[in-house]
Amino acid sequence: MFLQKYVKGKEELYAEIKEKIKQKLNGRTVYTPYEFVSNLRLTLSQKDIELNSPHQNAILGIISCRDEVVKIPEGLRNILYVNFSYFGSLYVGGKEGLEVLAHHLPEGTDKWVVLLHLPHIGYDIENETFGYIRRKGQQSNSYCCGAHALLKESRKTGGKNLNPHTELHVIYQVIANKAKVKDDPYEWTRSLYKENALYLTETLIEVVKENALTGFFYLPYLQVHVQDKSMKEEGTHYDVFIPLEFRFFYQNDQR
Ligand SMILES: [Zn+2]
Repeated sequence: MFLQKYVKGKEELYAEIKEKIKQKLNGRTVYTPYEFVSNLRLTLSQKDIELNSPHQNAILGIISCRDEVVKIPEGLRNILYVNFSYFGSLYVGGKEGLEVLAHHLPEGTDKWVVLLHLPHIGYDIENETFGYIRRKGQQSNSYCCGAHALLKESRKTGGKNLNPHTELHVIYQVIANKAKVKDDPYEWTRSLYKENALYLTETLIEVVKENALTGFFYLPYLQVHVQDKSMKEEGTHYDVFIPLEFRFFYQNDQR
């Protein structure tokens, strides 16, 4: 049905995509890339957190997947950020990694850390299925997120299919062997992310306290790459963003 997309405006197409996904996910909020950035800016300004100069009092960290289909929305590209991307958008960099944020903050009285977590997943709008995408120049679908599919597979082998001393092996040991295995790709993604969110927020509290920062805001959104038949043929997709659970705001009162 999206074959008529060329005669539709982008806004109309996005409205249709949003409605479909909202229905599929029992009424969840779905944002276009533009709405996602506006929502993020509004959320931060309500807490007096500023990522842009001249009144910058915060630093941004982004955790997304290294996959070539992942794009940082346009409205965020002019902001400097620390890139924490790992395969699967799963953070395993420990406290040392997050401390980079504390050390790179601009000087001033207020010091905030903003961590944007962007796990991703493919969505076939014709078949209403999550977990797959058609990559440019390929004739058949592949997993998206591919790292999540591999990590689920690893649960069957106790991680023995993963080479030691590699990123995915570490991710498996820190997160994936604890996450609840779900057959549905959407639920499996959420399960991995929930496990990771817990690890991240606990570690961020320590980093904020030890470095006497003002606080942090952990903001997770699922990045959904949407395709229909005509988009698959072109290897294109449209992204939408779903705010996830465990959005976490922490202010350091002992400062
Ligand atoms: Zn991925």
